[in-house]
Amino acid sequence: MLLGILKETAPGETRVSLLPESLKSLLAQGISITVEAGAGTAAGASDAAYTEAGATVTADRASILANADLLPLVNAPDATDQARLKPHAIVIGFLKPLDAPQALAAAIARPVTLLSMELVPRISRAQSMDALSSMATIAGYKAVIAAADLLPRLFPMLMTAAGTIPPARVFVIGAGVAGLQAIATARRLGAVVEAYDVRAAAGEQVRSLGAKFLDVDLGGISAEGGGGYAAELTEEALDRGRDLITRTAAHSDVIITTAQVPGRPAPRLIRRAAVEAMRPGSVLVDLAAPAGGNCELTQPGVTQTIGGVTLLAPINLPAEVPVHASQLYARNILNFLALIVKKGELALDLSDEVIAGACVAHEGKPVNPRVAKILEAATSSS
Ligand code: NAD
Repeated sequence: MLLGILKETAPGETRVSLLPESLKSLLAQGISITVEAGAGTAAGASDAAYTEAGATVTADRASILANADLLPLVNAPDATDQARLKPHAIVIGFLKPLDAPQALAAAIARPVTLLSMELVPRISRAQSMDALSSMATIAGYKAVIAAADLLPRLFPMLMTAAGTIPPARVFVIGAGVAGLQAIATARRLGAVVEAYDVRAAAGEQVRSLGAKFLDVDLGGISAEGGGGYAAELTEEALDRGRDLITRTAAHSDVIITTAQVPGRPAPRLIRRAAVEAMRPGSVLVDLAAPAGGNCELTQPGVTQTIGGVTLLAPINLPAEVPVHASQLYARNILNFLALIVKKGELALDLSDEVIAGACVAHEGKPVNPRVAKILEAATSSS
């Protein structure tokens, strides 16, 4: 069996799906590994390190695509690469199956088996494969570092002979994985932190990090969706959050916003008025930018200055920390591979809850019901 590691082609991508240190257990099972030249360079893994680890390195991307039985990737392959895949190969990665399932049509038709890291169920057994959490942890940390760098103020309170400097005030919206890491990072830098999440259960975690949790009375509406995620709210419930956010923005130096609802556009929580209420020099980092953004002014991937407030809308912050992002992702991939490769042979068990949950398509047909529905709707409307 051949496992291929490709150089990612998405603009700005620096991560790699497996590092040289990840290969030992795979090679020990008799799996051959071919790496595209330069695949790990940006993540600190040289071609020589892959060779030393026991892989073959080649510049021939087409031959890896045509021959690999197993292809762990970071991002979905583009249509050209999909058309070159070995039929019945298994492709694993952040495939964006709910955002852009049509972009996977060529691979589904090939047919290859598509396993999406975004869809790995968040059950305890699959925690070590939770790549979304790994990347959210990095994004939450890096968002605070980026904001601290841009802010024309210090984060910690300083008492000096020249006077006292008050601590920066950071407001974190959405206290999931990224939000909690942002809170922890901002607290370590000495900021005073407030946080808001629609899930009341997040309150305890926020407080345990030394931040203040802001509660909103949603009038009895349940904000809990399945699997620990938030549910999509009504406009009325969203408005209650928006009012709180506008009030809190006025005294915040930094806002890090992370609110998402899986498979839906990010909720628009931050009105223009909230941005305008912030002091000049303040910084807003919209981590929900890849899903459209939490701020109504957000343009994904574009940095704007609005009334002196810097609005960052990064679409791939983990790629700015390529070494550790690749290290965590590679471990998630390796743990996931352990489910589908037994003693060097492919053993895809679609009755396994984790594999069935992650499986987008198999043998030419969509497997995930949500993906099938979106594809069906796209076909019938075209
Ligand atoms: P996410 O990226 O989908 O959303 C980020 C946060 O935004 C969530 O906390 C969500 O409640 C919040 N949010 C959504 N709509 C909002 C709104 N209108 N206003 C305010 N906040 C809003 O979620 P995530 O960070 O990936 O994870 C969410 C939850 O799942 C967390 O409780 C996390 O601890 C849990 N989780 C469980 C496991 C596991 O059991 N294996 C793994 C990872 C995460």
